Amino acid sequence: MENKGTVTTFLTEDGFARLIFAETTGVVQYAGGRHTLSKTVTAALGRGLTAAVLMGSTLKDEGSSLTLRFRGGGPAGGMTCVCDGTGSVRGCVDEPTAELPPNALGKLDVGGVIGREGELYVVRDDGFGEPYVGHVQLVSGEIAEDITNYYAVSEQTPTVCALGVRVNRDGSLKSAGGFLLQLLPGAPDSLAEKLEGRVSVLPSLSALIAEGKGAEDIAALVFGDISWAAVGSTETRYRCSCSRAKYRGSIKSIGIRELADIAGAREGAEVVCRFCGETYFFPPEEVDAMYAERKAELRASAEKRRAGETTPPSEETP
Ligand SMILES: [Zn+2]
Repeated sequence: MENKGTVTTFLTEDGFARLIFAETTGVVQYAGGRHTLSKTVTAALGRGLTAAVLMGSTLKDEGSSLTLRFRGGGPAGGMTCVCDGTGSVRGCVDEPTAELPPNALGKLDVGGVIGREGELYVVRDDGFGEPYVGHVQLVSGEIAEDITNYYAVSEQTPTVCALGVRVNRDGSLKSAGGFLLQLLPGAPDSLAEKLEGRVSVLPSLSALIAEGKGAEDIAALVFGDISWAAVGSTETRYRCSCSRAKYRGSIKSIGIRELADIAGAREGAEVVCRFCGETYFFPPEEVDAMYAERKAELRASAEKRRAGETTPPSEETP
């Protein structure tokens, strides 16, 4: 399947409720091919990526990004998912092969593998100014419930998040998707109650998506007899933002002593990107060059500092 998903936004006719639906099967399948994941981590990462796509769909600027960080203390360790303003999403898990037996309901134990003793951090970077960082305690580690709780605690918009990821018996991904249902400012209580009632009787989202139900079908199920219309649709894909230049920069910025050690070992430096699995190798000569550049930079900044100290105070200059 192609590395491509679709995000469709619907509004009720009165403008008081918004449904953002994302179909992400191709995106999560592609992610599975870039990582070696256990079945339960496939479900966890699928939910995390879909949540990032949904929350990132309201970003306006190309240089903006939305980052979700789950730190729940489970055997999978931390999970990070990032979506940018162009709809590109990426994610990684500390221990991607961590596995647990099914939970009491016989389902993949996402809440167990992520853990529930910790926090969800949400970083929204609009591409200018300081990024906005919000965080809440995890409720269940099941992802959707934690996103819903995040909105309840730290944002103004009342929101319900639902995520549905199906994993085949052989561990491959069958289907993935999810939605955010939001009440917009001025929404009457009667609408809130009606939607709450409808969502509470909605069939399992993963079953609906696995059956091939599309965005319009889901909107019809959520809204029922409330008039609604699709107002826009965008594409999403799994794409990493890494490059040789970025990793060269991050190796160069480690401590000067560590850099000297790596240069001295004459083995070069190898980095594997945690988000996409790409390997970048820097041969010994290049590490030498990086070490020399770093030393020159440090010397230049020390000289600048000294020059600053010896410059006479401004009031004495003519
Ligand atoms: Zn990468």
